[in-house]
Amino acid sequence: MDLLIVNGTVLTMEPGAKPIVDGAVAVRGQDIVAVGPRESVPVPAAKVLDAGGGLILPGFVNTHTHLAMVLLRGLADDLPLKEWLEQHIWPAEKAVMDAETVKLGTLWAAVESLKAGVTCVCDMYFYAPTVAEALEQVGIRGVVPESIIDFPTPSCPSPEVALEKQRELCERYRQHPLITPAVAAHAPYSVNAKNIAKAAELAEEFDVPFLIHVAETRWEMETFQKEKGTTPVQYLADLGVLSSRTVAAHCVHVTAEDIATLAELGVGVAANPVSNLKLASGVAPLPQMLAQGVKVGFGTDGAASNNTLDLLRDAQIAALLYKGVTGDPTCMPAPTVAALLTRGGAEVLGLGKVVGTLAVGKRADVVCLATHEPHAVPVYDPESHLIYAARASDVQHVVVNGKTLVENHKVLTVDEDALRREVFRLAPKVRGAVEAVKAKG
Ligand SMILES: [Zn+2]
Repeated sequence: MDLLIVNGTVLTMEPGAKPIVDGAVAVRGQDIVAVGPRESVPVPAAKVLDAGGGLILPGFVNTHTHLAMVLLRGLADDLPLKEWLEQHIWPAEKAVMDAETVKLGTLWAAVESLKAGVTCVCDMYFYAPTVAEALEQVGIRGVVPESIIDFPTPSCPSPEVALEKQRELCERYRQHPLITPAVAAHAPYSVNAKNIAKAAELAEEFDVPFLIHVAETRWEMETFQKEKGTTPVQYLADLGVLSSRTVAAHCVHVTAEDIATLAELGVGVAANPVSNLKLASGVAPLPQMLAQGVKVGFGTDGAASNNTLDLLRDAQIAALLYKGVTGDPTCMPAPTVAALLTRGGAEVLGLGKVVGTLAVGKRADVVCLATHEPHAVPVYDPESHLIYAARASDVQHVVVNGKTLVENHKVLTVDEDALRREVFRLAPKVRGAVEAVKAKG
């Protein structure tokens, strides 16, 4: 055995599975080869990770984020979306986002993600080859697209170039153990129908995820209803671009008919409860989606609108939020939310056969969560504990694809202190860009 993870309660997150008290997970190469009570799992192993009596569970899957935007964390808050974007985020992106800073931001975001128990991230940003390189360097699993939008981006002067780069990416990363190439169209209001269709066709050709923001704001819904007489979801369905490989981020403003369409076409929804709350976009009808059989996972969205990549916190907030808005304390119970955080996210990204649960034959993406701090003692029900008591800082060890990336809270693959210094060094330049825009009025 290459790796044995022992001394914890194993939550496999397989449907219907019971927690395994004093369980263990055995790993050979990149794969899980045994999961069960400690005495049933083969020994010895080259390396043993001790979970210290805590929880052993699948890594969390962040189905929607813009990784490098961690560099803009907290730059501007509590503003209307338009002002926030036009006077703060876009000028800052224009001033500082090049391949080098995207690399730095992605590395930093990957470190933050891992330390919060996230083992798989679905990015949506620019300079995809650079993003893929950064994720490989850290060792985290990633879904990586180059984004298409109807105007020039920092990495692509036109949608045509973006499509070409997406094709190269798909060719280069097919069959890669960590990186899943993907194709992204920004949103139905920012990419024309022809380009959305081309992007979806490319995703189909390579059988990779097709990522798109859908129905995030009331403005988007009202604009489509007014100008096209339809909803954003129906518009995309009519274009024929929605399928089981679609990852639709947000879906806040959807009708009952939209939900039925999402279910029927097998579309995965990347729900971003905290980003939607912070930008006052609304609350996606997740309970209705789940009742209709829509695939759902959680996303943090970018750190400029969250402001962290702490997916566990977002899941925890979702568990409370839906109780509050429905007036029903049984809505979104802990086991449901825990499943969305892990298995649900993997299914949304088309990685349900690869990760998302601890099962023999799947890749070993495993998190050990300590349960000895005062806020975490005692533990009666591991899923309740995860959703209502645990904190990201309880994440002790993290394994991705069989490799130990975090041990005793320390990231092993990159120099966290050196990266921190670089991020601090860049921050004044980011602020300066925004000040310059303000000065111009
Ligand atoms: Zn987004």
